[in-house]
Amino acid sequence: MSFSESDAWVTDNPTTSATSTTPTPKNALKIERENHKLEKRLCRQVGQAIIDFNMISEGDRVMVCLSGGKDSFGMLDILLKLQKRAPVRFELIAVNLDQRQPGFPEHILPEYLKSLGIAFHIETQDTYSIVKKIIPEGKTMCSLCSRLRRGILYRVADELKATKIALGHHRDDMLQTFFLNMFFAGKLKGMPPKLVSDDGGHVVIRPLAYVNETDLTRWAAYRDFPIIPCSLCGSQENLQRQQVKNMLHAWEKQYPGRTVTMFTALQNVAPSHLMDPRLHDFKNIQITGVPDADGDKAFDSEEFASNSWSTLPMVKNDL
Ligand code: SF4
Repeated sequence: MSFSESDAWVTDNPTTSATSTTPTPKNALKIERENHKLEKRLCRQVGQAIIDFNMISEGDRVMVCLSGGKDSFGMLDILLKLQKRAPVRFELIAVNLDQRQPGFPEHILPEYLKSLGIAFHIETQDTYSIVKKIIPEGKTMCSLCSRLRRGILYRVADELKATKIALGHHRDDMLQTFFLNMFFAGKLKGMPPKLVSDDGGHVVIRPLAYVNETDLTRWAAYRDFPIIPCSLCGSQENLQRQQVKNMLHAWEKQYPGRTVTMFTALQNVAPSHLMDPRLHDFKNIQITGVPDADGDKAFDSEEFASNSWSTLPMVKNDL
């Protein structure tokens, strides 16, 4: 069976009834219903991303990178649910890199993972000291820190014989990266749902590509994940990313639906209507003599329906 043709990945069939934090009797039913819907949506979106980008194949051993944040907890949780009903067999192994940040509660993840009864590996490497030594006080440490982390995780993936590395970036991370590249690097470049790593040796997947951050926040609260704060290292979030985040939030507030429209645009690229000669041979274009309804009207100014976002395929899929 070609699993990409199967809808088992996306069938709305929650495999567990998650235990919730104690709701009041008055609204318990409503909360339960909402959380049930949320679980269905998360499973459907992750399943759809897996199908659309052929992320997981028969026999894969997927290394799930678990930072202790809500996103990676959510990714592991949903992948475990999908594993039970997926049309292909695959293994999951959770991996956490303990970077020896001061105050890192090293018992939390092993205890949680043991309680799930799944395979896991904790890699301990003191990158914190290295970064502190190299980066001047007050400067953001994230760039060096994540570079060191990347190298270690590639090595661990080799040692564990993982065939895929799963990262917990979601739709909003991907959009933010797109705008960061545009505003600060002059590139039309986002964060792909699947890629070959820079060392050429690993396939990296982002199963949360279609999931929005708000849903992950809600899911984390509902599932009561033992979240480890990401501020232990003392580094500030990159200022540029924060600016882009604020900008996207403000746009969404003012024009509800804009985030979905922009995310849809990332999957609907027209290289002939951009300006990169490496993607389109502008120099040698020739008349075809064949009318094209989607062709450039050239003389007309573009018109857009005021609510055009609501007709986009992604919106129809509730993504
Ligand atoms: S927030 Fe801290 S742990 Fe995370 S990438 Fe930045 S420096 Fe590293």
